[in-house]
Amino acid sequence: MAKESILIVEDEEKILRLLEIELGYEGYELGKATNGIDALEIYLSQKWDLILLDIMLPGMSGIELLRRIRGKDSSIPVILLTAKDSIEDKVSGLDLGANDYITKPFRMEELLARIRAVLRMKQIASSPIVESDVWLHAGDLKLNEKTREVIRKEHDIDLTPKEYDLLLYLLRNKRQVLDRDQILEAVWGYDYDGETKIVDVYIRYLRKKVDANFEQALIHTVRGVGYVLKDVT
Ligand code: CA
Repeated sequence: MAKESILIVEDEEKILRLLEIELGYEGYELGKATNGIDALEIYLSQKWDLILLDIMLPGMSGIELLRRIRGKDSSIPVILLTAKDSIEDKVSGLDLGANDYITKPFRMEELLARIRAVLRMKQIASSPIVESDVWLHAGDLKLNEKTREVIRKEHDIDLTPKEYDLLLYLLRNKRQVLDRDQILEAVWGYDYDGETKIVDVYIRYLRKKVDANFEQALIHTVRGVGYVLKDVT
């Protein structure tokens, strides 16, 4: 079976070349573009499994390109390459529908790990599921693994791809206390000290959508450890 195809959108010649060499070595089929306009054209010309997208691009910004891509396909995985360092900037990119981000300068093994994680999640999401196993439940919350619907008490809950992945992981491990490293590893595909803050940020986002407007909280903090999702207290 052919390896997955990756479209690299990056205007910095050195980084682009490095990515081509490393990803080519891993066996991925590659396409490249150095600006947003070309990238959109190449994106539309064939089917891609993943897009590596630089945010700072000449012409059309990576964020604008992401918006247009999401307008056509909500499921193609996108990993942002960002020079920005604040966690809020990363999160706002993720809110726009990116699956993950990596900050430049990055270590190649870290990028490769994230690519594998994102592609793995995509494969899990598209693999056939037995109809009766499609819905995961916790109290009055339910999540459909096939359609990605999340419903609580008849209300549709709209989640970003990463919020969805996180909720799915919590639901699959219902009533188990999960530490931050475990969550980071499972949902983001890597495990580095100092990055676990992103887990707290996402738990906060998820709570706002899943718990804030309802009587019973499902996501609980376990002090000094991590989090647990449970429907009985
Ligand atoms: Ca750039």
